[in-house]
Amino acid sequence: MPYTPPPVFRFAPSPTGLIHVGNARTALLNALLARRAGGTFVLRFDDTDAVRSRAEFAEAIAQDLVWLGIPPDHTVRQSDRLRLYEAAVERLKGMGRLYPAYETEEELDLKRGLQRARGLPPVYDRAALALSAADRARLEAEGRRPHWRFRLDQRLVSWIDGVRGPQQVDTASLSDPVLVRADGSFLYTLPSVVDDLDMGVTDVVRGEDHVTNTAVQIELFEALGGTAPRFAHHNLLTLPNGEGLSKRLGHLSLKALREAGEEPLAVAALAVLVGTSEAVAPVESLDALTAKVDLARISRAPARFDPADLPGLTARTLHLLPFAAVKARLAELGLAADEAFWLAVRGNLERLADARGWWDVCRSDMTPAIADDDRAFLAVAADVLPPEPWDGTTYKGWIAAAKAAGGRSGRALFHPLRLALTGRETGPELAALLPLMGRARVEGRLRGRTA
Ligand code: GLU
Repeated sequence: MPYTPPPVFRFAPSPTGLIHVGNARTALLNALLARRAGGTFVLRFDDTDAVRSRAEFAEAIAQDLVWLGIPPDHTVRQSDRLRLYEAAVERLKGMGRLYPAYETEEELDLKRGLQRARGLPPVYDRAALALSAADRARLEAEGRRPHWRFRLDQRLVSWIDGVRGPQQVDTASLSDPVLVRADGSFLYTLPSVVDDLDMGVTDVVRGEDHVTNTAVQIELFEALGGTAPRFAHHNLLTLPNGEGLSKRLGHLSLKALREAGEEPLAVAALAVLVGTSEAVAPVESLDALTAKVDLARISRAPARFDPADLPGLTARTLHLLPFAAVKARLAELGLAADEAFWLAVRGNLERLADARGWWDVCRSDMTPAIADDDRAFLAVAADVLPPEPWDGTTYKGWIAAAKAAGGRSGRALFHPLRLALTGRETGPELAALLPLMGRARVEGRLRGRTA
């Protein structure tokens, strides 16, 4: 069989703000598909915009990926790779595919206005291509510095999109894109293509706001002597009112969700599954989520989601998580919890931090509030407590004995016991809690003592 190298996926945010659930969708799709294929997942910071890019946002994005459980295999920064882009610029100039243009923003605006008035699409008229060397010298003598445009082939560019199927764009309908600004800085297009080539990226999964860029990029990949990767453009997430998410507005940033105590796996399940033909449902691991990823099942319509669904999804995720998935985090909360504790309480948690309350119920002294009517019954229940060792079956025998000795049943039997032992109306099965509390504590609380 011919050898096929493992695929390379990348998540390429510009570090200009905190990333949100919609960005998490892109990151997760890339990371999970890479994982499933035994490939590589690269984090690339598209930070050629020196004014808006900030190191602290890059730091925060890297942390968010770790929190989501998808740390990248490598991280690269475009600001470290400018030489590669400069070399590509020279090559494109040499081939006549990059040409200097001198129009100011105002002049371009004016041209577009005139085109619209005549019912024409506002496509750059390539006036700069007609400039002679003398024209250029005169413009530069006026103090103008050129920006550089990529001369498109003006042809039909097609690709098979992993989400959208066969796509075709006529690049004659597009303006020749500016690749280099007048100040020499790079716009997104060229560095992205140069890096994808240099890093051997095989798969680009990103938001559908990049569909039009793709035709330009395919031309650029080919101009630079490479082959374009596979592309898949997923639908974008919107709020219930149809409003899009914006990194700059800090909408639903992963940091905010983390601080609100949402579970990373709940955020991941929502981010990946919403707007697909797969129902949004909690998962117990990223592997389980990976198994559900299918680009072909992503809808073409925007993926509407309601942030109000997230807390419920967090709770339902916690109810599924195995102990191994939370052990370290419980320790960070200061709880030396074991598996028995976790399995006893997880079904009653809305947030992981709620585990502390149940930990205290099991391991810290508290003074039970006992109604006068129940005092005698609870003392009888204490009298019939079996000796230790206790396990998950202890409760059954004890409750039968308390029922017989106390002459109570139903709510009158169970409710005062739960209230005396836990101080709460509802909670985990007492059968699971009893061995965690231990006999001395149980007896003390039943007798109304601080225990
Ligand atoms: N920096 C671009 C963005 O955040 C990357 C797009 C791409 O994946 O090519 O939208």
